[in-house]
This record gives sequence, structure tokens and C-alpha cells, in this order.
Amino acid sequence: MAAFESGNGGADELRRLLDDSQRIVAFTGAGISTESGIPDFRSPGGIWSRMEPITFQKFVVSEEARLEDWRRRFEMNRVYGEAQPNIAHVALAHLVAEGRSAGVVTQNIDGLHVRGGLAAESLVELHGNATYAHCISCRRRYELDAMEAQIEAEKRAPRCEECGGFVKSAIVSFGEAMPEAEMRRALDLAESCDLMLVLGSSLQVQPAAGIPVVARRAGARLAILNRESTHLDGFANLALQGEIGAILAGVFPQLAGELH
Ligand code: NAD
Repeated sequence: MAAFESGNGGADELRRLLDDSQRIVAFTGAGISTESGIPDFRSPGGIWSRMEPITFQKFVVSEEARLEDWRRRFEMNRVYGEAQPNIAHVALAHLVAEGRSAGVVTQNIDGLHVRGGLAAESLVELHGNATYAHCISCRRRYELDAMEAQIEAEKRAPRCEECGGFVKSAIVSFGEAMPEAEMRRALDLAESCDLMLVLGSSLQVQPAAGIPVVARRAGARLAILNRESTHLDGFANLALQGEIGAILAGVFPQLAGELH
């Protein structure tokens, strides 16, 4: 593993790795969106220091848990809606548009990759998407505004019009099965990339955090950019500790200029 030597937080080393790669795949976590104003899970002040997650099992058995889950979802969705994509979201979209990246695998649920210009078909959302809802049984889609109005009027958690199943925000809750098609696509990307670039993930949530390991074992180089060290740093070709925005501004100075 190479630590960075240059005076710009490792931007030169990261640029060299990117320039030397033809099929880059990014793996992103909550840390890519903190500079857009969305708190992550594990940093001080992060979501976990303020509230316990509501597991899928609790959602299914308890009306109180369902209503609390909806309340949190509506609150967070307002935060997501007000947030703007930052240089990292835009840079990854550019790499894909230029044909240098095969896609982005994200653990995020905030919709900022697509709002940052990434084509939806180039994104794998391993943990779903919080900006809409679906029936947990038949997967029929529902919009959050309609769900909010319905809960306000009926004071109970909504059921699917089609099959009567519970409607829930389209995220993968703790304890819920991972979406098979997305896991398959993520593994395919990991197995076929020549560089996996991890941005803003503590790499603690499984099975998602296994994706960079699959890429490295399949022969790709691995670069990790995160504020704090991760347990995979020693396994990576480059591990940078720093702020994503500052380091990527050094890698993509033209984009940084356009965004300011
Ligand atoms: P995490 O909270 O476990 O880790 C985030 C990591 O990013 C931390 O190690 C932190 O040090 C680092 N970080 C934060 N801001 C940074 C910055 N500006 N520059 C560099 N590093 C920075 O998040 P995770 O690994 O994605 O896993 C947690 C789960 O949280 C995921 O399943 C995800 O679905 C969910 N989540 C998503 C969002 C979102 O969609 N924006 C927000 C919170 C949690």
C-alpha cells in the first residue's frame, strides 16, 4: 500500500492511478454526501449518535415503528431534496460520460449521484433509494408526497392498493434482504474493473463492504479515499485520509472551477 507523499493530500497519486485506468468503478458511501449537507452514520453528530435504526422486522410487526419510520423518511427526504450534488458526484458522472468508468456502486439512498449527472443505468443502488416508496410484497411504486398526505389524513401506515402489503420507503432497511439483481450487477462491475475507487465509506456494512475486496481479488487496483482509516487500507494500492472535496478538487481542478 502506498501512502501519499505529495503536498496536496494525495491528489497527484490519485490522478496518476485514474489516468492509468481504463475501466474504473467507484464504490461510494455516506461520506461522499456529507459535504452536500447530508449526515453520515458514524461520524460525530452522524445519524446513529441521534437515533436507533428501525429494522425491517420491527417495521413489519409494529404500527408504531412504521409510523416512526415514515416520519423519519419524510424528514430525511426534505434534507435530500435541499442538498446539492458536490464535486465528487459530478466527477464520477464525468468519468462515466467520458467512457473511463463502467459505473458507480453506491450504498447511498439520497439520489445525489443521478442529480449530479450520472446516467441512472450506470448506477447500482445496493441499499435502495429513499426518494420514493414501494410495496414490500409486490414492489408496486408509490410517491412520498402521496404517502405523506395519506398518513396525515388516515393516521395509519399505508397499505398497497394492489395486494394489501405494507408500503415502505424503497430503501433496504437493516434486517431486510439485499436486492439480488443489484448485488449481481455490483459483483459483475467489481470483477471486471481495473480500478476500484472507494469514496467515503467506513466499509463496515456487510455485504456491501465486500465489493471492494472482490474487485481487488479479481486483479483490480484499489484506492480508498476516506476521512478516517478503514480496515481495508492495508489491502489497497492507495489509501488517502482526507476530505473528499478537497482532494478531488486537486484531481479535477477544471470541475472545481466550474462548480464555484
Ligand atoms: P458510514 O457512515 O459508515 O461511513 C462514512 C465514512 O465517510 C466515515 O468513515 C467518515 O469518516 C467518512 N467521511 C464522512 N465525510 C467525509 C468527507 N467529507 N470526506 C472523506 N470522508 C468522509 O457510511 P457507509 O459506509 O456508507 O455505511 C453506512 C450506511 O449508511 C449505508 O448503508 C448507507 O445506506 C447509509 N447512509 C446513507 C446516507 C446517504 O444516502 N447519504 C447517509 C447516511 C447513511
